[in-house]
Amino acid sequence: MIFKIFQASEVETLFELLSVNRIVGPVEKGRHVNGSTLYDFDVVYDFKDLKLDYGQTIHSAKNYFLPYRENLCTFTFENNDWQKHVDFGAYQAHVFFGLHPCDINALNKLDKVLMGDLYPNPFYGAKRSNMFIVGHSCLPTPSCFCHSMGADSVLGGFDLFLTRMEDEYMAEVRSARAYHILERLETREATHEDHLLFRKTASEKRSLFTCEVDTSDLTKILDMEFESEVWKEWGDRCLSCGTCANVCPTCYCYGVEQEVNMDFSHARKVKQLYSCNLVDFAEVAGGHNFRPESSTRLKYRYYHKHRGFVEAYEESLCVGCGRCGEACLADITVPEVIASVRGSEK
Ligand code: SF4
Ligand code: SF4
Repeated sequence: MIFKIFQASEVETLFELLSVNRIVGPVEKGRHVNGSTLYDFDVVYDFKDLKLDYGQTIHSAKNYFLPYRENLCTFTFENNDWQKHVDFGAYQAHVFFGLHPCDINALNKLDKVLMGDLYPNPFYGAKRSNMFIVGHSCLPTPSCFCHSMGADSVLGGFDLFLTRMEDEYMAEVRSARAYHILERLETREATHEDHLLFRKTASEKRSLFTCEVDTSDLTKILDMEFESEVWKEWGDRCLSCGTCANVCPTCYCYGVEQEVNMDFSHARKVKQLYSCNLVDFAEVAGGHNFRPESSTRLKYRYYHKHRGFVEAYEESLCVGCGRCGEACLADITVPEVIASVRGSEK
């Protein structure tokens, strides 16, 4: 890894250099009822709209590489037969400017599933290889617990990572493309003192977390508490609305629909993101529903993230971004659910 230092004011020049491509970053999206500013990812045309000091966005950047609805293929009826058309490459290059470590870690987890050998998704892969990612340091929000999930820092999956240190940036360079772009800024090599300040900045951030999850032996505790009554209590509160999966940067479940034109000249297969909390998630042909109760669905969401994924990939499928708890109308949060399963709720 190469470390460079540049003046914080130079970040606007970096934005301009990268703006030959479409830039997506955090922007303001109005006010919460409590008066705090709401942020979300959106296309940014003007540097002054880019809010690098944001706390957390409502949605993750997932919408841009795992869209809610996506054409898998189209069919046309020609010469008395159906012709299939698939296009993986119609995706415009994007620069993601200002992703926090949790969101880059979320992408790295999705890569393991959607770019691995078991469930490769060429649509996702085409988008992922056409991205330039600029990470940005952050401070904990009241609801994030990324340090508990080991996602408060990130070692890869980005081109450039910027850590604000007083009136300068420490830039971690992870790709040749990023290296060449930085050559066009006024930079200097990071010194020993810069690295000390970098470590001090990281340790100060760790001391600011107010929300945490005890993950010690969590897979074993989940095994032992599979029949616990707490699942029913949380399930009774759950509205089965699917909002948690909608905002989650790591939820990737989907369904496939087929549509045929009334004149049978065109057809298409469409992929649509889905949530395991929705009532019909486990409904199969014939109408049988394997998970008719909300408690079972909610429980399986937790077992997938904190038990099954850990067994398959040796890491949790939750990065502790806190979005699901913020968005949930029933006030169901990961820290509270896990604490209650552990019998350690405060
Ligand atoms: S957002 Fe809350 S209420 Fe809606 S499905 Fe998720 S846990 Fe249930
Ligand atoms: S489960 Fe909740 S806290 Fe964990 S990554 Fe998804 S949205 Fe973030």
